[in-house]
Amino acid sequence: MTERVAACACGQLQIRCTGEPTLVPLCHCAQCQRRTGSPFGVGAFFDAAATAISGTSRRWQRVADSGHPVTFHFCETCGSSVYWHAAKLPGCIGVAVGCFADPQFPMPTLEAYGGQRHAWVADLTSCTAVEPPTQAPAS
Ligand SMILES: [Zn+2]
Ligand SMILES: [Zn+2]
Repeated sequence: MTERVAACACGQLQIRCTGEPTLVPLCHCAQCQRRTGSPFGVGAFFDAAATAISGTSRRWQRVADSGHPVTFHFCETCGSSVYWHAAKLPGCIGVAVGCFADPQFPMPTLEAYGGQRHAWVADLTSCTAVEPPTQAPAS
């Protein structure tokens, strides 16, 4: 089975992921821009049971527009944001795709917050566009 390791910039915080991601969303929202320092964020969700974490992290939690909290884990030394837990997806871990530094990583399947897409970023026509939640949490 495929094994991939995502690591922070200094290498001390790592997450080993076995098998293929269940979901690979790309998000243009302002929060993902700020968290990553990049014009958009790409995450890969894995079954938590198929992952193994090593190293130490600090965490930061925010409430997503869905109303559910998301807890981000980042390296306390270099600051890379490596993985997160979204309360809306229990049993899953989101991993920052850039931390795999793997050009062959599967492409995103979902594209969110297209309304905040930087003008020069191409529209990913192969992705399913999903609308952000507009109201307070229904689910
Ligand atoms: Zn680090
Ligand atoms: Zn986002």
